[in-house]
Amino acid sequence: MHNCTLGLRVDVDTFTGTRDGVPRLLQILQTHDVHASFFFSVGPDNMGRHLWRLLKPAFLYKMWRSQAASLYGWDILLRGTLWPGPMIGKHLASVIRDTQKAGHEIGLHAWDHHHWQTQLEHMNRAQIQQQIQLGMDQLAAILGQPVQCSAAAGWKCTNETLREKASLGFNYNSDCRGESIFQPVVDGRLVTTQIPVTLPTYDEVIGRDGINDSNYNAYILSLLRPGDLNVLTIHAEVEGISRISLFQQFLSLAKSQKIQLRPLYHLLPDGQTTIPQGKIEQRPIAGREGHVCWQAARNII
Ligand SMILES: [Zn+2]
Repeated sequence: MHNCTLGLRVDVDTFTGTRDGVPRLLQILQTHDVHASFFFSVGPDNMGRHLWRLLKPAFLYKMWRSQAASLYGWDILLRGTLWPGPMIGKHLASVIRDTQKAGHEIGLHAWDHHHWQTQLEHMNRAQIQQQIQLGMDQLAAILGQPVQCSAAAGWKCTNETLREKASLGFNYNSDCRGESIFQPVVDGRLVTTQIPVTLPTYDEVIGRDGINDSNYNAYILSLLRPGDLNVLTIHAEVEGISRISLFQQFLSLAKSQKIQLRPLYHLLPDGQTTIPQGKIEQRPIAGREGHVCWQAARNII
């Protein structure tokens, strides 16, 4: 495959993902001479609560439980369930700074990932502002420079969050799924450019439609569209820990197919190019509980 660029986004949701997954990802990305965009969660890690919630469906309960334990590990599953979750940015600032030093792009994923993902629709404007501000301040203090971009936890955003983030001067946000770079219109006003994620995540496709670890990488690469926007999200908790050898194989396979892996900012058009306008809507997604934000189809160009 020639002339194909793939934006690589690394979501870091948890304390363990930051502590154990990120350093290993930094190592293998360096080996492959690849730079990516890392989006960090910097407040309390209460993600164990969320992951347990995913295990509740009665069907295949036992199977899901054992799969989740092997995918995430017990310490991630228990985090924030038995005791208050640890503050990620406070304890693991050095990991975030190592990521910066290695030349990767860094943006804000969340203050409290679990809270944003499960409570956003019940938050008022002040609460949304507070979640964003706490995350921005913590991350900027760690980096020693302003935060330039963000990626909403769980692909959850609303008109309110888009408006709030528009006032922060980010270069772009990556808050939704979709097909092409666009500028959302909220209440008649243009807000910050969106770089949507175009590809499914590991947990969304594994175990469905005959996709397993032996054909997963080939499947993802088969979805790339040369000349169009391609963005893949990996998770420090999965591709950086339990599926790290699978991700190493992915990097080798991508290199052999001459696919250029890049941080997301690299995908933005130059200043002269007009970015198409669009809208964001909420829709379900295969392999994931609940709704996520999508670039509205009628605006895809
Ligand atoms: Zn996340």
